[in-house]
Amino acid sequence: VLCASQDFDFFYFVQQWPGSYCDTQQSCCYPTSGKPDADFGIHGLWPNYNDGSYPSNCDSSNPFQQSQVSNLISTMQKEWPTLACPSGNGIQFWSHEWDKHGTCSESLLNQHDYFEAALNLKQKANLLQALTSAGINPDGGFYSLSSIKNAISDSIGFTPFIECNSDSSGNSQLYQVYLCVDTNASSFIDCPVFPHGKCASNIEFSSF
Ligand code: 5GP
Ligand code: 5GP
Ligand code: 5GP
Repeated sequence: VLCASQDFDFFYFVQQWPGSYCDTQQSCCYPTSGKPDADFGIHGLWPNYNDGSYPSNCDSSNPFQQSQVSNLISTMQKEWPTLACPSGNGIQFWSHEWDKHGTCSESLLNQHDYFEAALNLKQKANLLQALTSAGINPDGGFYSLSSIKNAISDSIGFTPFIECNSDSSGNSQLYQVYLCVDTNASSFIDCPVFPHGKCASNIEFSSF
């Protein structure tokens, strides 16, 4: 059979640690639904090419529509909370993610299925449990980058990429975790290419 041409190679599934979004110089704003759980939240599911580049804003004629994800909203508020200022209900964040990234996989996943796929991936990759069961707790302590990567690899079976940012005192800290996912958005895979960016060799796991 003929198949639609492949318009990207894999996804990055990116989760953010809220403590590290909020303890920067810029600070954060809790969503209108209240302070999120002290858990990783979804940032996005991003189509990527094997050479490290990526498509974006692929179809302005297919903007985010809340009506397409109405049965997912309450789960998204919990698992995909927005922390940007001013406080929002999430619609802006999810719109941005769909318009910039989701439209680039729309031939495989419609809006509903794109958001549902991301929620399912978060269930399959419980990062906080992977870390805490290895004794790595969000207590403001410092942990080696390799111990964090090993704890996640051992639990999930695939090596993550860790993105760091700086807290307001300038400490390098665990900010985002990238896992690679096949084009069906259903299974984790070995990353064809890793993002760039520096962490210190010992990084803070901030509290939230
Ligand atoms: P930043 O400038 O914060 O690194 O990235 C801005 C945004 O660009 C990210 O939040 C994300 O939306 C997008 N982005 C950065 N790196 C990648 C990447 O490797 N792949 C994809 N698909 N998007 C990325
Ligand atoms: P990206 O980095 O995916 O290109 O863009 C993220 C966009 O979503 C930015 O415009 C950012 O202000 C907005 N945003 C809203 N809520 C959040 C959040 O909780 N985390 C991050 N990283 N960006 C958020
Ligand atoms: P290697 O992968 O050879 O152990 O590390 C090569 C370099 O990349 C080292 O400087 C190491 O600290 C850095 N590195 C390895 N894994 C990650 C990661 O997940 N995130 C970031 N930001 N740097 C990493």
